[in-house]
Amino acid sequence: MMGRPHALVTGGAGFVGSHLVDSLLADGYQVTSLDNFGSGRATNLEHVDSERFRSLDHDVSEPFPDLGPVDSVYHFASRASPADFETHAVEIARTNSLGTANALECAREHDATVILASTSEVYGEPEVHPQPESYNGNVTVRGPRAPYDESKRFSEALAVAYEQQYGVDTRTVRIFNTYGPRMSPTDGRVIPNFVSQALRGDDLTVYGDGSQTRSFCYVSDLVAGIRAFADAPTDAAGEVLNVGSPDEVTISALAELVLEVIETDSSVRYEPLPQDDPTIRRPDLSRIEQLLEWTPTVDLETGLERTVEAFRDELDGDD
Ligand code: NAD
Ligand code: UDP
Repeated sequence: MMGRPHALVTGGAGFVGSHLVDSLLADGYQVTSLDNFGSGRATNLEHVDSERFRSLDHDVSEPFPDLGPVDSVYHFASRASPADFETHAVEIARTNSLGTANALECAREHDATVILASTSEVYGEPEVHPQPESYNGNVTVRGPRAPYDESKRFSEALAVAYEQQYGVDTRTVRIFNTYGPRMSPTDGRVIPNFVSQALRGDDLTVYGDGSQTRSFCYVSDLVAGIRAFADAPTDAAGEVLNVGSPDEVTISALAELVLEVIETDSSVRYEPLPQDDPTIRRPDLSRIEQLLEWTPTVDLETGLERTVEAFRDELDGDD
């Protein structure tokens, strides 16, 4: 074990975090996951069979346990589904404030690099399209998304403060809608909802008239972008990069595509649009494409087919 770099992944039992754990282990890292299993699941890590991995049940808003030397901190803990924004608002705000402070302190103590998971939600309801990193966003300060959006914005501000005041190497990824295997079927976000509804033969719940857009990135592309950013030379320190797919679709078109990929009798059912649901969203990827040799490669249909396969296995297992 000696001599191997040690990566800490907060939220390692979650959807993105568990894929990051796999990627780091495959590259020879020693990996520790800190997760409270709130929205994450032990099953996301049950395939991991490595002496270089440990999973600790811990709430990141509490001080971190002694972890030994740490070389990189991937701070990914946080519920991310709008379905949780009302019921878990305080927990989310604490995770992305106290939790981020703990992650940054850990990095400062160990002279580690921080990779901070931020979000396209920092742009709120965008007035600029597509959204470049230089856009300051249009977030409703007191709306239902605010505990998530504003605490992510605070996370970014705190990371910049640690960079400037203490010289901690912090790299921030603004993640746009990402999907794939290991999302929980009960997560509440649109792709897990549509795929599990279609597999069960239920109608797909489109919120509003379905004209709102998102740009969906397959998880392997996201993880490749994050790892390339983390491994980039030190001139990437302090950077903030959008990571996501530039292929923008309406939610209606997404529903149609899911119904094409899955043979089902389901159709579409319209439900009210939640308050402050962004109308449009697409990343401007100029900066990441300039800084790193990275571009997304998995198209939506291929990614959906892989996701459907994984969900089908999981839902069959539940029977
Ligand atoms: P997820 O819910 O699957 O994973 C989040 C993980 O964090 C879970 O395992 C959960 O148990 C854990 N967690 C939450 N609060 C915690 C706490 N206080 N202490 C310890 N563990 C805690 O969601 P995800 O999609 O994998 O999101 C991972 C990260 O990526 C989040 O920071 C999220 O904001 C960010 N992100 C994701 C997307 C996306 O489209 N998937 C988009 C933007 C940002
Ligand atoms: N959405 C939907 N039906 C669902 C879940 C979500 O139409 O069952 C819509 C939601 O209103 C939003 C988009 O799909 O416009 C993406 O929602 P999601 O919760 O996945 O993420 P967001 O980008 O809003 O954070």
